[in-house]
Amino acid sequence: MTDFGPDRAQRPLIFHRGSCCLCKRTDDLHELSEFGKAVCSNCLPRFVLRKVRSTVNSYNMIGKGETVGVALSGGKDSVALLDLMLQLRGRRHIRVVALHVDMGLGEYSTRQRAACQRIAAAHGVRLEVEQVAAHGIRVRPLGDWPMCAVCGGVRRALLPRLGRRIGVDVVCTGHTMDDELQAILKNLLSGKPEASSPVLPGTPSMPRKAKPLYFVPERVTALYVELKGLEFFSDPCPEFTEEAHRLKRVWDLLEELAPMGKVQVLHGMRRALTGKPGYKPEHPCPECGEPTTMRVCPICRLKQ
Ligand SMILES: [Zn+2]
Ligand SMILES: [Zn+2]
Repeated sequence: MTDFGPDRAQRPLIFHRGSCCLCKRTDDLHELSEFGKAVCSNCLPRFVLRKVRSTVNSYNMIGKGETVGVALSGGKDSVALLDLMLQLRGRRHIRVVALHVDMGLGEYSTRQRAACQRIAAAHGVRLEVEQVAAHGIRVRPLGDWPMCAVCGGVRRALLPRLGRRIGVDVVCTGHTMDDELQAILKNLLSGKPEASSPVLPGTPSMPRKAKPLYFVPERVTALYVELKGLEFFSDPCPEFTEEAHRLKRVWDLLEELAPMGKVQVLHGMRRALTGKPGYKPEHPCPECGEPTTMRVCPICRLKQ
C-alpha cells in the first residue's frame, strides 16, 4: 500500500497533543499543521516572530546597523512583515523604512496608498513611494500575462530601484511559503524546476533581496494581523484575476491530505536543487541597463 493506505487514513491527521506548543493551554488553539503544532491566540504572534527571527538569522538577511526597506502593499502579508521587522530592530540597530509602489490604477491605488501612509505612520516609519506613472508607463495586460503577473513584474522591477534611490541595504518582501510553493509549481509545470532562494545577494549598485516570511504560511500571517488588530488594506483589486492564483489551491489540498506536506515539498525542492543556481541570474536590460531576469525588463516592455 502507499502512504495513503487504510492505516494512515484511519489515524487522525494531527501531530500535536492538543495544547499550545508555547504555554500548554488547551483552549483557543490554532492548528498549524505545517509545523505539526498547535498554538493559542495569545502565543501566535510570538510564535511567528520566532520563526521569522530564525529565518533572518539562518540566511544572514540583515546585517548590524543596516537600513531595511520593507515592501508595503497594505495587504496582510506586507503589514505582518513590517510589524515583525520592527520587532527585530532593537538588537541589530537597524533602521526600517516602508517602500510602496503606486501602480496608478485610479481610485483603487489612491485609497491603497492612503492606507499605506496610515499603516506606516501607525508603526512610526517613513513611507517612500515609487509611482509607476513617473516612468511614463501604465500597467496593462502584456502578451499572455494576466494583469496580476504584470503588476508583480513591475513591482519586482521597481522596488529595488526605489531601494537604491533612497539607499537601503536590503529590500524585504512579504512573499510567504504559499507564494514560493506556487512559484515552484508554476516552474515545474513549465518544465523548469527552480526554487527561489530566501535571500538574493545584492550588487554594488543594487540592494540585497530577502523574504523573511519564506517559511510562514499565508494563513498564519493573516492570523497574526487579525490577532494583533493591525490595520490592513482589503479593497478588492479591480484587476485581480483568480486564474493567476489558482495553483495555490493545490497546496492547501496537499496540506489537508498530508499535514506538513507544504514544508516537506519546500525543503525537498530546495535540497533537490542544491548546487544549481535555483533562480534565474539577472542580466542588464538591453533597453535601460537595469537588472532583469527577462529578455527586456517589464518597465521597458510596457513602454513599447
Ligand atoms: Zn499559548
Ligand atoms: Zn529595461
